[in-house]
This record gives sequence, C-alpha cells and structure tokens, in this order.
Amino acid sequence: MENREDHPVYGEPQTLYGLSASPGIISARILVLKRRTHRAAWRQLPAEEVEQEVLRFRNAVVKAESELRQLRKTFADDLADALSIIDSHILMLKDQMIIDRTVEIIREKEINAEWALAKALGRIKKKFDAIADPYIKQRYADVKYVADRVFGLLAGREDDFLANIHAPVIVVGHDFSPEDTLRMQKENILGFLTEVGGMTSHTAIVARSLAIPAVVGLENVTQSCATGDRVILDGFSGRVYLNPTRNQLEQYREYDRQHRTFSEDLALYIHLNSETLDGHKVCLAGNIERIEEVQSVLRYGAEGIGLFRSEFDFFNRDHVPSEEQLTDIYSELITTLSPMPVTIRTLDVGGDKFTSHLADSSLRLDLERNPALGLRSIRYSLREPALFRIQLRALLRASVYGRLRILLPMISSLSELHRVKGILKTMMQQLAHENVPFNPEVEVGIMIEVPSAVVMADTLASEVDFFSIGTNDLIQYSLAIDRNNQYVAHMYEPFHPAVLRMIKQTVDAGHSRGIEVSMCGEMAGDVVSAPVLLGLGLDELSMRPSAVPHVRRILRGSDYRQLVELGHAVLGCTDGGEVRNFLTRYLPARYPEEFGCQ
Ligand code: PEP
Ligand code: MG
Repeated sequence: MENREDHPVYGEPQTLYGLSASPGIISARILVLKRRTHRAAWRQLPAEEVEQEVLRFRNAVVKAESELRQLRKTFADDLADALSIIDSHILMLKDQMIIDRTVEIIREKEINAEWALAKALGRIKKKFDAIADPYIKQRYADVKYVADRVFGLLAGREDDFLANIHAPVIVVGHDFSPEDTLRMQKENILGFLTEVGGMTSHTAIVARSLAIPAVVGLENVTQSCATGDRVILDGFSGRVYLNPTRNQLEQYREYDRQHRTFSEDLALYIHLNSETLDGHKVCLAGNIERIEEVQSVLRYGAEGIGLFRSEFDFFNRDHVPSEEQLTDIYSELITTLSPMPVTIRTLDVGGDKFTSHLADSSLRLDLERNPALGLRSIRYSLREPALFRIQLRALLRASVYGRLRILLPMISSLSELHRVKGILKTMMQQLAHENVPFNPEVEVGIMIEVPSAVVMADTLASEVDFFSIGTNDLIQYSLAIDRNNQYVAHMYEPFHPAVLRMIKQTVDAGHSRGIEVSMCGEMAGDVVSAPVLLGLGLDELSMRPSAVPHVRRILRGSDYRQLVELGHAVLGCTDGGEVRNFLTRYLPARYPEEFGCQ
C-alpha cells in the first residue's frame, strides 16, 4: 500500500503512521468526533446542601452502573475480553479511591460533586504517574473513562455522540472508551482512528475482539483530517492513507476481494484433521480466559484447550472465588470438552497482569519497581499458599470429569517445582482423606517462559508430564525487552535466533524424556511463524481459537520433511532480520495461496 507515483482521487494524499491496534484494511469516509471534555465548575455549598450533593453524586454513580450493565447485556457472552473490561469498569464504580474519596471530599470541603470527583481523580493520576511501567500507567485511562461517564451524568448530558450515524464511516477522535468501541459494532462504524492509546489499551483489546480495524496513537489526527475525507485504514501496519491515490484505492479493492474469498475458504478447515500431507499429526488447541469462550473453541474446530488463563476468574468478580465456585467452573469446562484435553494454568498474577486492579483489596499487589521480575505468577501462589491450595483442590476435584492438564506458570528452578508438587501432593492426601474423588494421575506440566527453565529443560522434563512454551514471556526475559514497553517494542523479535534455539532446545529436551511439548504464546497462532514452529518439532500449538482454521490450512498443505528442513534452515540464521528475509522468500514460493505470490 506504499505511496505510488499516481494521482490523488481527492485532496492531497498523505500517509499517517500510528500503532496498529486491531487488524483489517478498510476504506471509507471519516467522521471526526470532537473531544468530550467535562470541565468541572467549582461551587461552594451551604452546609445544609452537602448531603443532597452526596446523594446527587451517588445517584449518578448508580445510573452509570446501570448503563454499563445494560450495555453489557446487549452483547454475546463469547466476547469475553470485551465484557471483562466492562465488568472491571463496573467494579471501579464501587472503588474506594474513586467513589468514597469523592464523597469524603464533598463533605470535607463542602463543594460540588463534579469538583470533588475531579480532585479525587487528580490524586489517582498522581499515583499512576509515579509508576514507571507504561502498561500500568495506561490503566489510568480506564479510571478516566469511568469518571467521564459519571461527569456526563452529573452534568445531565446524554453524551451519545455515536448515535445517529447513518452512513458507514470510520470515526476519528482523541480517544474512545472500551464501551464506545463496543457500541461501534452496533452502529454504522467500520473502524476508528485515535490520537492516544496503545496496543494493550483496553480500547484496542475490545476492537480486536469485535474485529473492528483500528489505528491508534496518531498524534493530532483530529486536526490533520476533516469529516468527509476518504482514508484507507490499514490496521495491520498501523498506516492510514489520507486522500488515497487511485493506485492505492485499486490495491485496497484487490486486497478486499482476496480477503473475502480467503475467509470463506478457511471455514472448510474447521472440521478437518490437523495433519501434514505425509501424515504427521499435531494438536491445534485454543487459548481462552473465561468459560464463556469455550464455545469459540468448538466453533473454530480447536482440539482442546492448550491454555486457560485462570486468573480472570479471580479478578472479574467482587470476591476471591471459593473452592466450590472454581470447581464448578473447571468441571464445566472439562465436561464440555471431554474427551479433548483441557489445560488449566494456575494463577498467573503480577507483572503486567492486573496490578492496577482496584476493586479487590485481598488480591491487590503492592506496586513493585520491577513487576515483571517481581512477585508474579507461581511466586505469588507460593507466597499466598492459602489461595493456591483452594485452586489446586478445585482443579483436582474437577479432574474426574475428563482430561485435565494442570499447567504451572513461570517455573524457574527445580526446587520451585518441587515445592509446588509438594503442595499438590498434600492436597491429594487431604482429598483422599475426605473421600473426595480426584484423578491421582492428573497430568502436570510447566510453562517454559524463563531462560533458566530452558537451560534446565532436560532435568525439569523428568519431573513433569508436558511442557508448554510461553513465548510472550520467554522473548521478554531472554531478550530483556519489556513486552509492554512501546519504546523497545521494535526489538521484541520472536525470530531472534536466541529464541528459536531456545524453542528447539526445549523441544529436544522434552522429546528426549518422552514428554509432549506445546506452545501457547502468541507466536503459535501467527501464520508466518507456524511453519517454522512445526518444523522445530512442536507437538501442539495453542492459539486464539479463530486462528485455528488458518494454521490448520498451512499444516495440511505442508510436507513434514520439508517443515523440518525449514526448521534447520532458520536455525542456521544468525539474526532475526535474516530469518525474516529468508521467510519472505520461502513462504510465498512454498505457500502461494497463503502468502500471496501474485
Ligand atoms: C506466554 O508468556 O507466552 C503466555 C502464554 O502467558 P501470558 O501471555 O499469559 O503471560
Ligand atoms: Mg507468560
């Protein structure tokens, strides 16, 4: 889609560079939406009006909550990512730091609710500003979205700026909340561009789960274009072609045509086996986070769950779940998919996950200076053994309903694994003593996501039933690249030879001890890396369920011996760029329909 020497169709052509937040390419006219600012006027209240003001504030909070609940109801349950974000916003409307603090300020200072809320927000912002981690910093945006909703209600404004859009458009604004984004699906909105935001912003996550193409982080985009301008939004590269040229529009139409046929063809691969032309079988499984997503595992033909991120059940609710509640969730999951395997990972909190969670004090982690290297994941579980024991008991109790695989995250040494196994053994003894049924042979595996685990993989392999490589973290820890830091994001290289060699070393160590090696990092669902990973010998690739048909199509079009040769070839490269250059030549020649050799 790069600029060509041809003539513009509309105004002066221009390419804007942002961050790709949600994939897809679309072309349409834009609608620029003005930034919603809620300026709070200061009002000193007579003492007798203070309680009335508190009531006015509380009513606005109640209304905000009921609006969010209403919105939530209008969307299908399988939009799990998006819905869990709304849930977290609903929880924020009960948060002490926002709500109780505002009430305190109204009473203490005898001032109006808008001003008090702005003050409470100012304090929260200061706390977030003091945090170095850019991912956690971004979570302030969520607090702001929630507060903006309450501001709007206090001002008596029905700020429904997305309603009444009658023609299909791409909307452009300073920022959109995750809730705005959810509503876009129901309105005539094809995609969006914003001035702020990042890949991991909640707005981006919602856009991806609704498949609404989006580019964010386009500084001053509301100034550089005007309502009615035509753009091509390329959500893959993060580029926006303002006033595209004829050639650019033609290329876009051709892409659109190919893409439609391609998606229809892919549906055929939902029900086929996962095997190569020469009969080598692998398992293509799904990664999910909430039980509601189990339907998508079935819908896209995944052969089980390779990663259930169990932490979501701990956070998107008012209380820490009980053993009974967890047993119910796990049992339902396992029963629904039986006899397919269900891999449930034990709690992986800390690091980039939920440290800004404001609602549940019992799980609130202290903000650490270096969270990715701190008290996260299995380290947290070992430090909070009461919680860990509840989860292990629930897993064991659910293990009788089908094929459960318990996955332990972030194991970095043998002694750590021994400690976990010790606790698991005690839980088994307890249940046996209580005459509660469980499967004593339940499979136990570990995530390989820390370099020390790769180096020790042969030793660790003798102690577990399977490995699952977590490349999202393995890349971050081996290349010393914070996976959420936009300044070093360009150095986050899955094809770095160090990463590829670690994958191979792990596969070989696992196979030499007779255990299966899976991968559940994002890389596993990427069609460019899938042939390489298959060639490195992985037994299972686990990915977002919707990616399964495409990866299966590649697998079924492959010859295993050629994949192994490909694996050898990339292992011979000495730099990530060299691997990519090699693949740029190899893939279109070997898989012309997939990688477009037109
Ligand atoms: C990984 O690290 O690759 C992984 C799958 O786990 P998460 O993304 O949940 O850290
Ligand atoms: Mg991980």
